[in-house]
Amino acid sequence: MIIVLKPEVTKAEIDHIMDRLKERGLTGHVSQGVERSIIGVIGDERVIEALPFAAIPGIEKAMPILKPYKLASRDFKKENTVIDVNGVKIGDRKVPIIAGPCSVEKKDLLLEIAKEIKACGASFIRGGAFKPRTSPYAFQGLGEEGLKYLAEAREATGLPVVTELMDSRDLDLIVKYADVIQIGARNMQNFRLLLDVGKVDKPVILKRGLSATIKEFLMSAEYIMSQGNHKVILCERGIRTYETATRNTLDLSAIPVLKQLTHLPVVVDPSHGVGKWDLVAPMAKAAVAAGADGLLIEVHPLPEEALSDGEQSLKYKVFRQLMGDLRRVAAAVDREI
Ligand code: PEP
Ligand code: MN
Repeated sequence: MIIVLKPEVTKAEIDHIMDRLKERGLTGHVSQGVERSIIGVIGDERVIEALPFAAIPGIEKAMPILKPYKLASRDFKKENTVIDVNGVKIGDRKVPIIAGPCSVEKKDLLLEIAKEIKACGASFIRGGAFKPRTSPYAFQGLGEEGLKYLAEAREATGLPVVTELMDSRDLDLIVKYADVIQIGARNMQNFRLLLDVGKVDKPVILKRGLSATIKEFLMSAEYIMSQGNHKVILCERGIRTYETATRNTLDLSAIPVLKQLTHLPVVVDPSHGVGKWDLVAPMAKAAVAAGADGLLIEVHPLPEEALSDGEQSLKYKVFRQLMGDLRRVAAAVDREI
């Protein structure tokens, strides 16, 4: 339910409404708008419907949120959510670029990549220490050792770290080393994992599942938010279709669709979206043109020797060229890289 407050509502009236909600086991989230403030009410629908809204001072009207996702919905919060990670904003006018290897491999290599992408203008270093591989015999990541290398790369460059959490058993470790927790496509509907990251105070990049609809994607964001962590960044990374020319089908229409339905930032991962290095740049540019709030791009100096996803990784020179092109695309849509 959305409670629309009267323009002249007082702080005492808002406190009173919040108390009333609390005593019925409901949670209220106040959202201060430019013209009007609202309270989004979450909890047992039957209890909410029984509330005598018209009798409570300060309330103008109450409207049900018809979408199954509530906290994530644009109805709940009109203004775009901007997430601040160590001073780097996601969801603002500036479009941060998250770059780095698919997997963290060697320390020196990671440090070199971090320095290189920073020099090109990237805002985050990414790299997996726990890798969701299709084959159990493929490289599974360096675990904590890899997280330590990421922390050293942050130390050396100042770039905040994005890395994937695959299992709640590693949550404390990831929280200790990472600035943003990535939930991979394969875990988008691992509901227990979502609930667990919902309880920590760290931004989460939630990747769209391989066959997830937009509604399912937003319901997964809702799982995280329902536990109190509202710092969710959605990531379109391509979906499974009948097409085999690309690794996945990058659904760029998801950007404007999500922008209508939710206030959460939307970033795009063209690397996994297409799976081929020479197709990454055009889709990265298209994503920024379509309104993406950030990009996730895999970079590796020796793609042939990469332990995972070499075929979709950009060499430094290609990445540098792309960053220049992205600046011009961003300017054309009144954004900045
Ligand atoms: C990755 O970012 O390296 C990754 C494994 O992504 P996804 O979960 O989208 O496949
Ligand atoms: Mn990868």
